[in-house]
Amino acid sequence: MAELKGTSLTNADWQARKNAAMARGEGNVASVFVERAQGSEIWDVESKRYIDFGTGIAVCNTGHRHPKVMQAVAEQLERFSHTCVMVTPYDSAVMLAEKLNELAPGPSPKKTMFVTTGAEAVENAVKIARSHTGRRGVIAFDGGYHGRTLMTLGLTGKISPYKNRFGPFPGDLWRAPFPVPYHGVSVADALRALDMLFKTDVAPEDCAAIIIEPVQGEGGFYPAPDAFMTALREICDKHGIVFIADEIQSGFARTGKFFACEHAGIEPDLMTAAKGLAGGFPLAAVVGKAEIMDAVGPGGLGGTYAGSPVGCAAALAVIDVIEEEKLVQRAAAIGARFRTRLEALQKTYPHLIGDIRADRGAMIAIELVHDGDAEKPNAALAKAILTECYANGLVVLTCGMDGNVFRFLPALTITDDLLDEGLDVFERVFKGAAE
Ligand code: PMP
Repeated sequence: MAELKGTSLTNADWQARKNAAMARGEGNVASVFVERAQGSEIWDVESKRYIDFGTGIAVCNTGHRHPKVMQAVAEQLERFSHTCVMVTPYDSAVMLAEKLNELAPGPSPKKTMFVTTGAEAVENAVKIARSHTGRRGVIAFDGGYHGRTLMTLGLTGKISPYKNRFGPFPGDLWRAPFPVPYHGVSVADALRALDMLFKTDVAPEDCAAIIIEPVQGEGGFYPAPDAFMTALREICDKHGIVFIADEIQSGFARTGKFFACEHAGIEPDLMTAAKGLAGGFPLAAVVGKAEIMDAVGPGGLGGTYAGSPVGCAAALAVIDVIEEEKLVQRAAAIGARFRTRLEALQKTYPHLIGDIRADRGAMIAIELVHDGDAEKPNAALAKAILTECYANGLVVLTCGMDGNVFRFLPALTITDDLLDEGLDVFERVFKGAAE
């Protein structure tokens, strides 16, 4: 089977085999086939080294193969890998639920349920909110991203490439504008539109939940203004609507708080978590107010792999590392370091870098435009820089409704040296593409 193992194959060889073997819908950003990864570095099958500013889309917040996480997983594998938490449960799931209940923002007693992916967590949060309220309507926001299953696609507010030709989506889902002052949508505008939605399409008393990302991820790394989060909290309280914070991308120290909704100081009713939760092992959770979580009777929630023991062991170690290595504070410091460098770049290229978003820890972005105009997205430049970054050994990602936002998601364990080295590469590539 030496040929199939293919250790001597190049990235191009593997790309050809991938294209032949895997559906093209599951595309890849770069033709970089990973051989191994450690900390904030990745090596491909051609032994080329990359600095990782993507962390597998905000997953490896504690870096690749953190020794504590590796050890916890190895120890769990010595014991057992799966029994199904709904059949014969185990200590790590209980301990992780206790820990998440303690970490979730706000004073109300909390409970947790586990699933495997972020989209599943969102699906279950909606089920719980509907069961608790006896209502059907769910409101999400323009540019929001909540997953690729049919319910979550219905909530996701971006057609291309996610929703094209996949409809119909489930009913009773509604959408309101997300406030982005940079694009001329103020908090007051967004609240007015929500009020209008309540008058035109769904009465608040028919509304089970409002779901929002405290920092929009795929939609462009726009933080929800604190005043908007506070106003939504009040609206939910007034009408008995369940406030769901989708913390799947923004959670686990990423934004300089353990959870991003802490920036606004609000307590969501339910919160979804995945990605950074288990540092690379598939695990997701819904954490929320105990009386809401318990609206669903036994057997109403779950899944075969819900709360995998390997994922739970990894997550307990990830949380320990976040606490021991003070990664919440480190995320804020990383954001500040990026800001300084990106602002210097913007001074030289004010017509190309329209906006810098670096006040939510290590969830950092720049928006590329033409003529310094927010409404003239420069996706071509973003694409050119992206390609050159990979060619120069830097893993980065784009996002945004127009694909013109560069996002930076380094591990929170990254050293200043690697961070600066990565930023040097980015700056060099940016200048090369901009001139
Ligand atoms: N919600 C948010 C905010 C996300 O960023 C993502 C993933 N990008 C999801 C939900 C879906 O998670 P998953 O891909 O694990 O299903």
